[in-house]
Amino acid sequence: KIKELSLIIPVFNEKDSIKELYELLIKTLNPLALDFEIIFVDDGSDDKSFEIIKSIAARDNNVLGLRLRKNSGKSAALSAGFEQACGRFIATMDADLQDRPEELPQLIETLKNGYDVVCAWRHQRKDPLLKKFLSLIFNKTSSIISGLKLHDINCGLKIFRKEVISEIQLYGQLHRYLAVMAYYKGFKITEVKIGRASCRERV
Ligand code: UDP
Ligand code: MG
Repeated sequence: KIKELSLIIPVFNEKDSIKELYELLIKTLNPLALDFEIIFVDDGSDDKSFEIIKSIAARDNNVLGLRLRKNSGKSAALSAGFEQACGRFIATMDADLQDRPEELPQLIETLKNGYDVVCAWRHQRKDPLLKKFLSLIFNKTSSIISGLKLHDINCGLKIFRKEVISEIQLYGQLHRYLAVMAYYKGFKITEVKIGRASCRERV
């Protein structure tokens, strides 16, 4: 069955955020009246993450829980989710609530406006200074080398048309370069600014 949106969420030991994340997603997605599925991919967690995912999936037909036998990394988890996804649009989001569910609608809207990939850009990022600095270097070098002018290449929150995902093989640390790989294949990419302060106000 074809859905409009598949949301893939890689999970490694995120027992404290999964339920809240799920509830925020439902609150955000239900009003959009679109046919969606949420795929949680447990990447070999050793906390209660998968139990929580299973209990959500048991109650909600739009939720699917997958589990990797052992911790295999974010790329492997995303890849397992992509294989099961049946949406025309496929979004990725981290499970730790660093990516806010409330930002999804504007990514969907932007994609509909004629893009193949839309990346979130955390322009008021609330991370330690060192992490922000390393990320700045990563973004500058990646964009110089690849030619893709994005501010936040590695942000976990992105949305793709399914054609993009079916052309990309993910392994190792390649999830960081999803947008770059799509760019090399000639897909049309843009970014939208997101910010935690403003999105909290909108809800
Ligand atoms: N994650 C995963 N496998 C791993 C490490 C992380 O599936 O081996 C998931 C994690 O649960 C989160 C996302 O990937 O949903 C991003 O991980 P993290 O928050 O550690 O990355 P950062 O925010 O530092 O980029
Ligand atoms: Mg994180």
